[in-house]
Amino acid sequence: MDHAFDDLLAHNREFSANFDLQGFDGVAKSGVAMVTCMDSRIDPLGMIGLVPGDAKILRNPGGRATERTLVALVLGANLLGVDRILLVQHTRCAMASKSERELLADISSAAGHDASWLDLGAIEHQELAIIEDVHRVRSHPLIGDRARVGGFLYDVDTGLMRQVA
Ligand SMILES: [Zn+2]
Repeated sequence: MDHAFDDLLAHNREFSANFDLQGFDGVAKSGVAMVTCMDSRIDPLGMIGLVPGDAKILRNPGGRATERTLVALVLGANLLGVDRILLVQHTRCAMASKSERELLADISSAAGHDASWLDLGAIEHQELAIIEDVHRVRSHPLIGDRARVGGFLYDVDTGLMRQVA
């Protein structure tokens, strides 16, 4: 093994020495699940006043309600105490700033290999995508009746989250 992760493992040993997150189960204590983007500017728990143990956080490029995300929300809503679901996209998202074709060209050039076969899921219109995803979750037969679903746009410059759907 190389030493690529040594600094992180050193921090983990410190973390473990002061570990105080034991003693609770995998249920979302606040009943919240949030689907949001992988963007590093987003602090999903902090931005809605929650802490570890409170919520299920599901992240992917753009913060979309993908097939696997829906599976996670089914598990959350039926087995893990989730009764409120937030779908959160954000301003200045890379997935919404360029077209699918442009993003694939960027990836191809960065990777040095053709990426045009990839299904990236670039977002053409964020508010429409949020509305569409909210509908997708609400109309899911194993989620719809069990959780309230809201769609939001988070502003990475102000930290404010606005409900869209
Ligand atoms: Zn993003």
